[in-house]
Amino acid sequence: LEENIAKAEAYLARFRKDGVLNHIAGEAIPAADGTTFDIISPVDLKVLAKVAHGKAADVDRAAQAAKAAFPAWAAMSGDARKKLLHKIADAIVARSEEIAFVECMDTGQSLKFMAKAALRGAENFRFFADRAVEARDGKTLRADGQVNFTSRAPIGPVGVITPWNTPFMLSTWKIAPALAAGCTIVHKPAEFSPLTARLLVEIAEEAGLPKGVWNLVNGLGEDAGKALTEHPAIRAIGFVGESRTGSMIMKQGADTLKRVHFELGGKNPVIVFADADLERAADAAVFMIYSLNGERCTSSSRLLVEENIYDRFTAMVAEKAKRIKVGHPLDPETVVGPLIHPVHEKKVLEYIQIGKAGGATVAAGGTKFEGPGGGCYVSPTLFTGANNQMRIAQEEIFGPVLTAIAFKDEDDALALANDVQYGLTGYLWTSDVTRAFRFTDALEAGMIWVNSENVRHLPTPFGGVKNSGIGRDGGDWSFDFYMETKNVAFAT
Ligand code: NAD
Repeated sequence: LEENIAKAEAYLARFRKDGVLNHIAGEAIPAADGTTFDIISPVDLKVLAKVAHGKAADVDRAAQAAKAAFPAWAAMSGDARKKLLHKIADAIVARSEEIAFVECMDTGQSLKFMAKAALRGAENFRFFADRAVEARDGKTLRADGQVNFTSRAPIGPVGVITPWNTPFMLSTWKIAPALAAGCTIVHKPAEFSPLTARLLVEIAEEAGLPKGVWNLVNGLGEDAGKALTEHPAIRAIGFVGESRTGSMIMKQGADTLKRVHFELGGKNPVIVFADADLERAADAAVFMIYSLNGERCTSSSRLLVEENIYDRFTAMVAEKAKRIKVGHPLDPETVVGPLIHPVHEKKVLEYIQIGKAGGATVAAGGTKFEGPGGGCYVSPTLFTGANNQMRIAQEEIFGPVLTAIAFKDEDDALALANDVQYGLTGYLWTSDVTRAFRFTDALEAGMIWVNSENVRHLPTPFGGVKNSGIGRDGGDWSFDFYMETKNVAFAT
């Protein structure tokens, strides 16, 4: 651990010294008005860096740069774009240790997962790089006396607004397809964890990305974020964050008729029937709520268990939750690190109080954890004896807190699973294939895994229903968002 901390300090030194600058038209620059805001590390709550506090004037410069760079970038051949995006992926791999260490200190996420997240960022670039060549292809549709050709073209400069959880991986997931499609970008990362977004744009330009294609403006949601969603040169907004921010962005973007793509919150159920492989199901349920500190949109925060196995199964989960290693994010053994920020820690601890006051039983955790550095640690928490009306069963806590509810039969399980405002993911555990088909057909969620934790296959669609999102990305779905489709009809 000591060695890792020393390494992290070496990687962080530049940010401590020079702060975190914006990046516009290939230049690393401070905010136009010279202001900054501080970010703290969730590990010890000490200031990590001063960050350029971009506002409308900075967003305007960045949007103009993205607009100026668009024609040449859009005109580049798909093959050339493919090669360049692969070079960015290579450069990410080459700096993956730095990315992972910086991410751990900035977000509190553990090295165990961030080392993989950095490499997944490279994989995202490779995945969309390989598709850049065919991104414009369309279809031929014949009618009597007519042949129609469809084709796609990049929509223009786009805004990408990302949240504080796993910011590196998420940013690559949104930005790589935009670049592959031929769009130019203004990225506004989350104000709690902006460090790896800065590394990413540098890596891309060092790999050869032309200046102005990718611009970065740091700032708060209400200034830089809002200005980006309102800017007339920005044609679309790819947003990942809270559901209520999504609805604000929709309003802000209305005057300029912004196309939006939203990946929002979740209150995802894991549904366990008595006929399931209970040991596997318990491991997966534990992984899906406590990995990444529970700060994960696809986390399974509601555990719905058939009543005849409820006590046994929740005891298994509680036992596993108690054994989870909470600690310094750079300790290779740590699973749960400190939460992102004291404000968020307070919110999570308040939900734990709400759960207790509402009559649920704490079967594991339920307290702040006194971890190294005195940061925002919360013990992995399991509530049993809960019902679906409780706030801990309805609202997104976004921390290591799992709420277990018993169900009587399949109809009851389905009704409980669907009785929330969200619909991002679901996880079903049963050995009855017919039931699995029936249940997944009726479950209101954009993504469902049967007898598995969340294992992503990148060509499949990613996104949610209800208040969990609008639109899909992954595979060709990302191109549908970042591109316009044109139809030309020829009389024959
Ligand atoms: P948030 O909505 O508070 O912030 C996300 C981003 O939006 C930040 O960059 C913020 O500065 C910006 N923002 C805030 N107000 C804005 C405004 N008025 N106009 C423009 N931009 C604005 O979300 P968060 O707390 O950073 O992230 C956690 C949330 O993200 C959770 O709800 C989580 O479920 C969700 N999330 C969803 C997915 C998914 O794929 N569905 C993935 C990760 C996180």
